[in-house]
Amino acid sequence: MSVEGKTAIITGSNSGIGLGIAREMARVGAHVILNSFTDSDEDHSLAADMAREFGTDVRYIQADMSKGDQCRALIEAAGACDILINNAGIQHVAPLDKFPVAKWDAIIAINLNSSFHTTAAALPMMRKAGWGRVINIASAHGLTASPYKSAYVAAKHGIIGMTKVVALETAQEPITANAICPGYVLTPLVEAQIPDTMAKYDMNREDVIKKVMLERQPSREFATVEQLGGTALFLCSDAAAQITGTTISVDGGWTAL
Ligand code: NAD
Repeated sequence: MSVEGKTAIITGSNSGIGLGIAREMARVGAHVILNSFTDSDEDHSLAADMAREFGTDVRYIQADMSKGDQCRALIEAAGACDILINNAGIQHVAPLDKFPVAKWDAIIAINLNSSFHTTAAALPMMRKAGWGRVINIASAHGLTASPYKSAYVAAKHGIIGMTKVVALETAQEPITANAICPGYVLTPLVEAQIPDTMAKYDMNREDVIKKVMLERQPSREFATVEQLGGTALFLCSDAAAQITGTTISVDGGWTAL
């Protein structure tokens, strides 16, 4: 089964990993739906430029993944959903007893609850089409923990649990559900953590990257958005038709430690 002509919806895809996966899907001829909570000229020209570059349909649909009704509306507005990539995510770092309640709520809503809503809206479309792929972008933090990331770690562990349930509920259908668990990937989400970490450890940027971030990643290299796009594409291939309810780590050995 080729991905060409299939509709791939990637939440949170105007930047970082989501954009990398969207580009990989467009490159092989999927019809791509880009999404974020913003609705700027840049968002729409990103879609138009990608459509021109790859000669395929690319649309940008604004929807805030912190709101359940907007998650469902995104899928409805797309009109079809063969490949659902639940990728939108945010991060906040603070000790648990000082973790802002609003940040906890936002992380759980965007990084976990959104996938419940999008998947619930997408499964009937996949069933009707007779084929589907649900790919949840979890994290090494879905399998292990780090201090000060309580909401993020809880959401990422949660999404791996939900992935398994979706896989079991679709096990006898031509639909699979899996989670990809990236280690560190140099995206705006990770960039944003560098200044605070520099201040906290009194280190320069290079030392923060090498000695703090990549300290957990035995390869000592960031994973790339292109590698994550390739992994998502593999999960859409026939070779992966019996891979369901599991996780694929793209973390340079982090979770082998
Ligand atoms: P990023 O900040 O570059 O991208 C996040 C995307 O989510 C952006 O497109 C942003 O606009 C979107 N987004 C944020 N809030 C949203 C909302 N309310 N509604 C809709 N879209 C929203 O970050 P990234 O590193 O590319 O992260 C993408 C995913 O990968 C996240 O789920 C993140 O947890 C996961 N991840 C990232 C890393 C890493 O090292 N970068 C590692 C493991 C997992």
